[in-house]
Amino acid sequence: MKKVLVLEDEDNIRSFVVINLKRAGYDTLEASSGEEALEVVRRNPDIRVALLDVMLPGIDGFEVCRRLRADNAKIGIIMLTARTQEMDKVTGLMTGADDYVTKPFSPAELTARVDALYRRTGGEPVMDSGEIRQAPFLLNTRNRTLEKNGQRIKLTQVEYSVIKLFMENPGKALSRDEILEAVWGREYLGEVKIVDVNIRRLRLKVEDDPTNPAYITTVWGYGYKWGF
Ligand code: CA
Repeated sequence: MKKVLVLEDEDNIRSFVVINLKRAGYDTLEASSGEEALEVVRRNPDIRVALLDVMLPGIDGFEVCRRLRADNAKIGIIMLTARTQEMDKVTGLMTGADDYVTKPFSPAELTARVDALYRRTGGEPVMDSGEIRQAPFLLNTRNRTLEKNGQRIKLTQVEYSVIKLFMENPGKALSRDEILEAVWGREYLGEVKIVDVNIRRLRLKVEDDPTNPAYITTVWGYGYKWGF
């Protein structure tokens, strides 16, 4: 079964989300507090996607995201935010979320986002069993891991997809739209800003000095380049 966690403290919103996801073929697990959500994930390690409301009594959705991500790099995480401003702080996505949806959202939009993330977190059928080696980096496309100087760097599935795209196109300027389409898919309904947020997070992981990036360089007014 395709398991999705829905964390939302407002009963009517949670039911609305659950009904729509069930209709789309998902097996939903529900939680109304952050603490409960962490417990549900502990008991159901096969949950592939988690929808996390931000504003909650007790620990908030960002904290749940951070804790989930600390033990599980693979789970797909979508934040449900009340206002766009919450995400402008960027801190939300910096905690490790893959995507966010702003309330109020339509059932179609939400389902499309979950579908897209679910597909990505499942991994592609791997035909290539290769490695891409660009010192100091080594990308293993079979087990989807990245090493820098022999040290494993923990990546989310989305971050892995971005790095793979870069390493397959070394030295090539990639537009933000190109990155969005390659990683999030043509059907992605969100904003291109998600690319910048993921790049910012990736820089913290791969750069020697994230404030002065040497590997992921900015191509002003266009996008990014893997600087080899
Ligand atoms: Ca709430």
